[in-house]
Amino acid sequence: MDNKIFSGETAVVTGGGRGIGEAIARNLAAAGARVVIVDVNKEAAVALSEEIGGSYVAADVSDSESVEGAVNKIIENNGKIDILINNAGINRDALTIRMKEEDWDKVMDINLKGVFNFSRLAVKKSMIKKRRGNIVNIASIVGIIGNPGQANYSASKAGVIALTRTMAKELAVRGIRVNAVAPGFIETEMTEKLPEKVREKFLENIPMKRLGTPAEVADTVRFLVSPASAYITGQVITVDGGMVTE
Ligand code: NAP
Repeated sequence: MDNKIFSGETAVVTGGGRGIGEAIARNLAAAGARVVIVDVNKEAAVALSEEIGGSYVAADVSDSESVEGAVNKIIENNGKIDILINNAGINRDALTIRMKEEDWDKVMDINLKGVFNFSRLAVKKSMIKKRRGNIVNIASIVGIIGNPGQANYSASKAGVIALTRTMAKELAVRGIRVNAVAPGFIETEMTEKLPEKVREKFLENIPMKRLGTPAEVADTVRFLVSPASAYITGQVITVDGGMVTE
């Protein structure tokens, strides 16, 4: 197998400074891509981009002007965007009746509008001209099955799934594929902080009886942006140890 399958390709990873995005950035860089990390967390993103021989561009995905500036800069520096991984995401959990409107808006703005902002501009300014491109959106299984306390987050991820399917249908004829990965419970700083009891409860519901790793999510992303998945578009692949099976 060619280990550098993405050489000559520019891959943008939003929220790539840490967590799942970091694993995706490392994976694609190891496969030869020129990785551009887009993040609000400058410190982590700069250190990682230096380590993997990539670059860092500052942007808040929820702000369309900031995204436009970032997309322009990426194209100026790299000539094009071949791969876009919309990974930046946050959660602000509360039961629906207690949820603050600002927390609803913030999660929607970053998780859903952020994907719209970046995809629209990357497609318009680069992919459509080259008639070539690959987008993977990081959703979540809660966007499929729901989760108490995560009305904003699960609705945003369901929106990401619908946006993925719609853009895939719009762009297939232009040589651009759009897919989503829906992780289950993954070992990250977020899940590390969970109390032991909550963790045990999660494990009860995972057929494989363990959390997933960021590297396992990244391997699925790599497959979806590689020629090995050339006839796959508009799909949602769950990476969840068997929790969601339809
Ligand atoms: P994470 O560790 O919190 O990392 C997210 C990165 O995105 C951080 O560097 C963060 O910066 C950055 N970011 C936040 N808001 C941003 C914005 N507006 N613009 C640009 N960058 C921004 O997250 P994660 O747990 O790896 O999750 C990554 C993705 O996977 C998210 O979409 C999440 O919803 C999804 N997911 C995660 C899990 C899980 O178990 N962890 C499960 C299912 C789905 P700061 O460091 O400044 O916050």
